[in-house]
Amino acid sequence: MSGYQINEIFYSLQGEGVRAGTPALFLRFSGCNLQCSQETHGFDCDTEFVSGRRLSAEEIGEELRECSPACRWIICTGGEPLLQLDTDLALFLKEQGYLLAVETNGSVEPAPPLLELLDWITCSPKVAEHAVRLSRCDELKYVRSYGQGLPKPKLTRMEHKLISPAFAGGHLDRRTLEWCIELVKENPGWRLSLQQHKIWNIR
Ligand code: SF4
Repeated sequence: MSGYQINEIFYSLQGEGVRAGTPALFLRFSGCNLQCSQETHGFDCDTEFVSGRRLSAEEIGEELRECSPACRWIICTGGEPLLQLDTDLALFLKEQGYLLAVETNGSVEPAPPLLELLDWITCSPKVAEHAVRLSRCDELKYVRSYGQGLPKPKLTRMEHKLISPAFAGGHLDRRTLEWCIELVKENPGWRLSLQQHKIWNIR
C-alpha cells in the first residue's frame, strides 16, 4: 500500500531534550513495535499511536505547510517513526527545505541513505542494550522510574546523555524526580531532562 499511516500532524514546541522550547512541526507516525507498560518498562506508554490516516508525501507536505509556513524543523515521532519513515519521504521533505529530527526507541535500524538525511536523532531505548540497532544519535535519553538504574549504553556515538523521570498518569511524583536527580549526580556527564510539555500543558 502506498503512502504513510499518520496519526497526527501539529505545530508546537519541543518539550524535552536539549532542544526543549524550540518550535517544531510534529509528524506522528501510527504504530509501534513495542508495548511499554508498568510491568515491562516501569511506566505505561501514554501516547495514542494506533489511529491514523493514509497520506501521501505530498499530502503530508501540504498539511505541514498549513500548520506553519515558517517553521523548518520537523520532529518525526510515533509510535516508532522508523517503521515507516523511508528515504523517499525524507528526501521529499528535505527538498522542501525542512530539517528532520527523529525520536526513536532505537530498535529499528534506518538504512544508510536515510540515516544521512537525518539532522537530529533522539534515541530513547526501550529494549535491552543488545537489541539497540542504531549506530549513532545526537541525544540518548533513558526514561527512569523510581528504583531503575542506568544501563551501560551500547551506543557510543552520541552528543548528549539525558535521564528523563517517568510521568505516571500525567504527573511527575517527587520520589521519581529525586531518584533521577541522584542518578545524574552519581553519573556526571548525564543531565536531567523533564517532559516539560506536560508541565506547560501543551501537546
Ligand atoms: S516505544 Fe515509545 S511509543 Fe512505543 S510503546 Fe514504548 S513508549 Fe510507547
